[in-house]
Amino acid sequence: MPILMYHYISELPPDADVYRRDLTVIPAHFEEQLQYLQSQGYQSVLLADIYETLTTGKPLPEKPIVLTFDDGYKDAYTDALPLLQKYGFVGEFFLLATPAHYEAPQYLTWNDVRAMADAGMSMQAHGRDHYDLTARSYEFLVYQILGAREAVEAHSGRPVRFFCYPSGRYDDDTIAVVESAGYWGAVTTAWGTELRLDNRYTWPRIRVKGNLSLDGFAKILQDLATE
Ligand SMILES: [Zn+2]
Repeated sequence: MPILMYHYISELPPDADVYRRDLTVIPAHFEEQLQYLQSQGYQSVLLADIYETLTTGKPLPEKPIVLTFDDGYKDAYTDALPLLQKYGFVGEFFLLATPAHYEAPQYLTWNDVRAMADAGMSMQAHGRDHYDLTARSYEFLVYQILGAREAVEAHSGRPVRFFCYPSGRYDDDTIAVVESAGYWGAVTTAWGTELRLDNRYTWPRIRVKGNLSLDGFAKILQDLATE
């Protein structure tokens, strides 16, 4: 099953560099992608649904897909949320606690986070900050991983069950802390669709790049479906 990975859903700023272009899907293209998913009968599910399917056999829709959004940018609230609602999809948002706390201009505030949770979106954790979590001390990992979970739970009013490694970077110590902090699983930036219980702390995703055409988007999903 595909877990799609998005970052920015916004217009490109005039000074956008190659990285920002790569990470940005403009709202008109995002809407076309949602229309395509809807027309093909895809139904969005959450990572917790997949976990429950793997552990208890809970049934999933016939064509399930997960829509994830990394970093907790402001456009998750202003652009992604209304489009998701328009097409009847739910999104899974991986948040950074520190910019939310300080109300950094480009990021969701805790009020936004609460509003999105109340609108049925799944608010999950990406760290307190956006640091590489490899080769770190136990205390550092606990602060970034458990601390983010506690902050997002407190402000969304809902349980946080999934973690997203910043920049997709992790090692055995990172996974051990994610597991002991009570997360059910975690997602990476590796390409793939194999979601099993034994790899639930390294679930792969499908990156949707900013320059991807609708035909390219459709082809990726068709190729994955016939794998
Ligand atoms: Zn990130």
